[in-house]
Amino acid sequence: MDNKDIIAAYQSRTGYSEMRPKAALIDMDGTLYDSMPHHADAWKQMASEIGIETERDEFFMYEGRTGASTINILFNRAFGRDATDEEVKKLYGRKSELFKAMPAVDPMPGAKEMLATLRRSGIKRVLVTGSGQSSLLSRLDTDYPGAFRPELRITAANTRRGKPHPDPYLKAMEMAGAEPWQSIAIENAPLGVESASKAKAFTIAVSTGPIPAEALREAGADILFHSMPEFAAALPQLLLDMYNL
Ligand code: CA
Repeated sequence: MDNKDIIAAYQSRTGYSEMRPKAALIDMDGTLYDSMPHHADAWKQMASEIGIETERDEFFMYEGRTGASTINILFNRAFGRDATDEEVKKLYGRKSELFKAMPAVDPMPGAKEMLATLRRSGIKRVLVTGSGQSSLLSRLDTDYPGAFRPELRITAANTRRGKPHPDPYLKAMEMAGAEPWQSIAIENAPLGVESASKAKAFTIAVSTGPIPAEALREAGADILFHSMPEFAAALPQLLLDMYNL
């Protein structure tokens, strides 16, 4: 399918007759940072410290959830109950500490070029993450200077119902003053794609890890790329095709 067919398919999926992006809603882990392998290792180690055995790969499937939601999946499986707020705080703190102790993660190749194209096109950028990992959040301004204004960031601190619910993306649209048909979302994981797609943003899935591309399509992606550099290279033409409808 070429871009025009893909945009037409988005319009028929959502019922909107236009697609003119003025905001880009952008996920962090696995999209802006190559951080997912370290997150998976940190989760696995934290779980094993409290006697819960896990598969490392399962954490790639939970990607996008808030820390509390992931902890509750583990607790329900092992103990048949949700974690208390106190347990969530303690265990997410421990997981964050383990993550922070690992070697620094790199910015995702291609992400800088993507952000440069968005800025040149006058498109507002909103960060949309369920993360509360301060060691990464505090690096954003260094790695991507000027890319995300402080008031245009959704993080664990202002997310109650996280991905895969549409709430984080709906809130991001509200922050940016953009309608769904004025919003493109950029995601790398099935739960994030599902969240953005339910919020009716034009949902761009970029496969950057072990998750099969098919899982991203099934989660509701409108368009799929196999790496960030591939997406960054295709973005200028995609935006042109949206404006020239
Ligand atoms: Ca992600």
